[in-house]
Amino acid sequence: MIEDNQLERAAEIFQTARKAPYYRQKYSGLGVPSSWDEWRRIPVLERTELYDNTYPRTTTMFTGALEDSIVSSTGGSSGVARTIVLRQNEWNDFCQKQAEAFMRLGVSKDDIVANMFVAGHLWPSFIGAHEMIMRSSCVHLPISANIGIDEAYRLCREYKPTVILSLPTFFVLMADIAKKDNKPFDGLRMACYAGEQMSREAEAHVRKWLGVKEIKPLAYTSGDCGIMGYQCADCGFGEYHTLTDFQLIEIVNPVTLEPVGPGETGEILVTSLRREFHPIIRYRIGDLASWIDRPCACGSADRKYRLAGRAGEDFKLGGAYVTVGEFERAVSEVEELSLNFQIELADVAGARMDLVVNVECDRPEKHADAARRLEEVLAQHIPDIAGGLKIGFFNRYEVCLVPLGSLPRNPITGKIKKVIDHRVD
Ligand SMILES: [Zn+2]
Repeated sequence: MIEDNQLERAAEIFQTARKAPYYRQKYSGLGVPSSWDEWRRIPVLERTELYDNTYPRTTTMFTGALEDSIVSSTGGSSGVARTIVLRQNEWNDFCQKQAEAFMRLGVSKDDIVANMFVAGHLWPSFIGAHEMIMRSSCVHLPISANIGIDEAYRLCREYKPTVILSLPTFFVLMADIAKKDNKPFDGLRMACYAGEQMSREAEAHVRKWLGVKEIKPLAYTSGDCGIMGYQCADCGFGEYHTLTDFQLIEIVNPVTLEPVGPGETGEILVTSLRREFHPIIRYRIGDLASWIDRPCACGSADRKYRLAGRAGEDFKLGGAYVTVGEFERAVSEVEELSLNFQIELADVAGARMDLVVNVECDRPEKHADAARRLEEVLAQHIPDIAGGLKIGFFNRYEVCLVPLGSLPRNPITGKIKKVIDHRVD
C-alpha cells in the first residue's frame, strides 16, 4: 500500500528530525507515529518558524554538520526569505524528479530549451532548471531573465527555442512585446512556467501573442519544498499528481487542521520524504488545493489534486472578500492592457479608502480610454466596487497605466506583488 510506505518513511524522517535541536524541542513529548492519527498529532511547521530559524543566523534545524550541501533561498516573495539547505544527494534527487516531470511533458532531444529563470541571490530556479535540462538530453540555451527582457527577447528570436522556461510574469511581458511587434515566434511549441500559478487569462494572452501551442507548468514546485506535483497528459488546468515516494502531501482545513473531505478546499501541508539534513515536516506552504478522487486516465497510482490559489490572496474591500483572480478576469477583457498589474489599497480619513490599479501597457499616454474602460469593467465584475462608488466609499478609484516592464519586480525572484495593502488592520 502506498499509504503504508509513506507513513513508514515519514515516521523515519520524523525520527531523524529529532537530531536537530529545534525539532527535538518542537516535538518533545511526541512518540514516533505508527498510525495516521498519530501522524496528525505532529504540529504543523509555519513559514515564520523556518524564517526565525534560518541559516546562516542559526543551524538549529540541521540534523548534522554543514558540509557537502547547497544553500538556497525562497527569495521572500511572500514576505520574508527562508533559507533551505540540501545535501548534494538531496539536491540531485530533486533535479532528477524535476527532469522526469519535464520529460513527461514530451520534451525530447529534438528540443531547444531556453532557460529564462532568474539566477543569483541563492535563488535556485535558474540552476535547478539548468540541472533539469541537462538531464533531459535536449539542447540548452542558458539565457536567464537577469539580462533584461529586450536582450532575452532578441536571443529567442535569434536562437529559435522550441521550448521556453520562465515565470508567468516574464512570459506575459514577452507576449506584450511580441504583440507590439505583431510577430509570433517561429517553431516555438511550448512555454513552461514555475514559481507562480498562471491564470487562464495569462495563458490565453501568451498563447495568442507568442504563437505558442502549449503552455504547461513545469511542475508544482517551491523554493522551500522542491517539486510537489507533476502533470501527466491527462491533467487538466491546475491539476497535479503527487510524487508519492518523494513528498507526503496533506490537505487540511485551515482552522481545525483536520484532513478535508473529497472535493473540499484546504491548505496544503508538505513533508519531504527525502530531506534528512534540513527536514521539512507538515510544512504549511500557503497554497490551497482539493483532492481529485477519481483514477487518472494515465493509469498512475499517484493521487491527484487541484490547486486553488494562495491562502491569503483574497483581500477585504468594503464588506466582502475579493480575489486577485476577479481583477485579472476584468483586465483580460481590455485588449490594450497587459496582465501584469498591481492593486494598491490605502485607508483615508473618514472611513474611506483609495483603490488604485496600476496596469502595464504599451504607450500608456495613448490609452487613457482603456484605463477608463477597465474602471467600468471592474465595477461590472465586482459588486463591492460598484456599491462603493455609489455610496462614495472611495476617496480615489483609478486605473493608472504604466509602461511595459515598469511595475516593481522582486529583484530576487522577478515576481510582481499583486496586492499592496497600505491599510492598517
Ligand atoms: Zn495522470
